[in-house]
Amino acid sequence: MQNKFEELKKRIAEVSAINSASAVLGWDQQVNMPPGGAEARAASLSALEELSHSKFAAPETGRLIDSLYGWAQGLGADSFEAGYLRAVRRDYEKAVKLPPEFVGEFSRATSEAINAWTKARGDSDFKAFAPHLQRILDLNLRKAGILGYKASPYDALLDLYEPGATKARLEPLFKKLAAGLAPLIKEIAARAGSVSSDLVRGGFDEAAQFGLVNEIVEALGYDFSRGRQDRSAHPFTTDFSAGDVRITTRTERDWLPAALYGSVHECGHALYGQGTPREFDFTPLAGGASLGVHESQSRFWENIVGRSLPFCAWLLPLLRKRFPGRFDKASPEELYAAVNRSAPSLIRVEADEVTYNLHILLRYEAETSLLEGRLKVADAPEFWNARMKELFGIVPARDSEGILQDIHWSLGAIGYFPTYTLGNLISAQLAEKMDKDLPGWRGLPARGEFAPILGWLRKHVHVHGRKYLPDELLMKELGSGARVEPFLEYVKAKYSGLYGF
Ligand code: MG
Repeated sequence: MQNKFEELKKRIAEVSAINSASAVLGWDQQVNMPPGGAEARAASLSALEELSHSKFAAPETGRLIDSLYGWAQGLGADSFEAGYLRAVRRDYEKAVKLPPEFVGEFSRATSEAINAWTKARGDSDFKAFAPHLQRILDLNLRKAGILGYKASPYDALLDLYEPGATKARLEPLFKKLAAGLAPLIKEIAARAGSVSSDLVRGGFDEAAQFGLVNEIVEALGYDFSRGRQDRSAHPFTTDFSAGDVRITTRTERDWLPAALYGSVHECGHALYGQGTPREFDFTPLAGGASLGVHESQSRFWENIVGRSLPFCAWLLPLLRKRFPGRFDKASPEELYAAVNRSAPSLIRVEADEVTYNLHILLRYEAETSLLEGRLKVADAPEFWNARMKELFGIVPARDSEGILQDIHWSLGAIGYFPTYTLGNLISAQLAEKMDKDLPGWRGLPARGEFAPILGWLRKHVHVHGRKYLPDELLMKELGSGARVEPFLEYVKAKYSGLYGF
């Protein structure tokens, strides 16, 4: 058996090496590549993807998995071998289910949809995007049918991003969340003018910002000998191995939080990647448990640590050094208020911690209704605007600031958005557990002491890589799946303090 396992590992390591090469090309595309390189790069990426897929989905991979599965589970559910076989079997079953013709059709439809969406958003013309959205929905329905589901086709799609998640389990979470947030949003709206973000707005030298965020991520524990930070239009993290996990950020001259919290967010993702055991490199155990668990890491560092008063107390002297004169009179409390201002907004990516999950709720309602045929594509903008009014009390003047704002649907991703909310919920659960295991940890950032916090995450989350399904991991380390209460308590305590209610 050991020989067969070595054979499987060798095969998977080759596939992973190809995928890692694709990731380098993808990183380069967003960070360095001149526009003229687009066509050749797309050809290289698709050739590598085909190579990787045909090697991975080959019948021989399936035979090895079948012959090893029982042996590996016999070594104990927590063993490397058992986790390896569970993960590779899940991936293999998905890979062989979708016929190559379907994959090709899906990929053609999404590249056309991305172009159409880019133009439609620019012109704020939903009608021009509508046929593409319809095609994406139809293809996703077919995909769900091929992958299989019990209650809703949405479940099959969700499972691609958050293994094990279902609509039936998400629904009560969203309901509770919306009910808990509504009164909070009202209280904040009644005191809208009492918190200002002027302190972090307007005229910050961008080279100084980049220097600052490099200093910050290093202090958090990001290892520059196993990664680097660059700038790109949309910040992202990419892992080639645990020895090379890269992040990007985006500076905006007039809005310091873009680079500041963009970097801390991506750093949270990257710490997860850098913290995965090296023996998981080039195995199916590399990477995070799911998108939701990954997002719990980025949101934990960005919001729970990065937007706390102790963090602001530590940050303030760094800001004074980088931006002479700008912060001389500011107090940590003023900085804390400035980076936590809450207000209903049209754009999801600009939303604060309180309103953010309502943006996800709205997107979730729209995409489940569309997929299940309860909402027609032509009526989607009207649905969007009516729900914006109910949830936020504001209505976008243009679809570009409403239903057309996000790229995900044109990428073919239906069922992706809920992972953002799951990440937010899990981040608060992690903080709650840390209160028990590491009393006093919330004050540590004031002294720039981040290592004990990172150490806890390493030990309870990072060390497992992709060995467990998200719910298994949460049960094991937190004693329950995703819950709404810790998050609601956290935002209520924080924002009642900030806004004085
Ligand atoms: Mg993220």
